[in-house]
Amino acid sequence: MQRMLETLRELMAIDSPTGMTRACEMYVMDQLKSMGFQPGHERKGTVICSVKEGDHPLLITAHLDTLGAVVRSVKSNGCLRFSPLGGWNPNAIENENVRVYTRDGKVYTATVQSVHASRHVWRDTSDEKRSDETLEIVLDERTRSAETTKALGIRAGDMIAFEPRFQVTPSGYIKSRFLDDKASAAILLEMARRVQEGTLQPERGVTLAFTVYEEIGHGASSLFSVPCEDMIAVDMGCVGDDLEGREEWVSICAKDAVGPYDYDLTTEMVRRCETLGIPFTTDIYPGYSSDTATALRAGLDARFACVGMGVYASHAYERTHVEGMEGTLRLLEDCVKRVI
Ligand SMILES: [Zn+2]
Repeated sequence: MQRMLETLRELMAIDSPTGMTRACEMYVMDQLKSMGFQPGHERKGTVICSVKEGDHPLLITAHLDTLGAVVRSVKSNGCLRFSPLGGWNPNAIENENVRVYTRDGKVYTATVQSVHASRHVWRDTSDEKRSDETLEIVLDERTRSAETTKALGIRAGDMIAFEPRFQVTPSGYIKSRFLDDKASAAILLEMARRVQEGTLQPERGVTLAFTVYEEIGHGASSLFSVPCEDMIAVDMGCVGDDLEGREEWVSICAKDAVGPYDYDLTTEMVRRCETLGIPFTTDIYPGYSSDTATALRAGLDARFACVGMGVYASHAYERTHVEGMEGTLRLLEDCVKRVI
């Protein structure tokens, strides 16, 4: 678990908003190569790695891209207006520190602030609806005009990455932005490492894929050509309202906003958790889709399921628990060890 958390910490330290994921892809490529695997790197950015050849091929995916934003325009006061990358709630980013990446390689720090930030100046602005018009990105540079900000090399289309604020508490909670889906990517890398060490011995063909552009809906579009009988998207489980998922458990998604998951493979996930005594729940996720839908729409012919640790406050400042990650890892290990 300690090693998996260290991998997660390293993944979190690499900004990878959808559309700027190369550095994170290269980190995963280097990790897999250092284990002795020969991962492939698609032109679009997906990292694909066969960790075992064999019958009943299984494809397991996690996505490396995260929510983020791009610069929409430079404002007359020198601050930036943003355009969102992925589906987040503007309330969830106010006061967050960010990094602005220019196309010529400069990185500037900044903060998302209300346009009426000071309580002593504007009094109570708590009723103001948060949006790209009422929030702005305040650069940590001496600029009070559009000209000065543009002279820094910042222009529309530059990438904005939010600080993840990664923390592991003594009680085992992991708090960070982007646990969706870097927690799953860390689990897949741990599986690869265990295969390399011989502590995990697959009894079937296994391919791991680390996708990008999942957050905007075309992550696994090219994976339809990967030979597989079963595809498992490892992605966060939803927590809240009438859902039963929790951070310490594995969530098995029976249906999301796209529709139901493969009945037999989903039932198989339930049976495996029951047999192994892994705390789990099945749930339906009202506003959610995973990489399986993308691959299926592109032409994949396989059974498909979606499993992962419960993640509280998804697409905001998220939280999961080490036990949820451990349970997910155990379930996936059983999937590669045992064909049922
Ligand atoms: Zn996700």
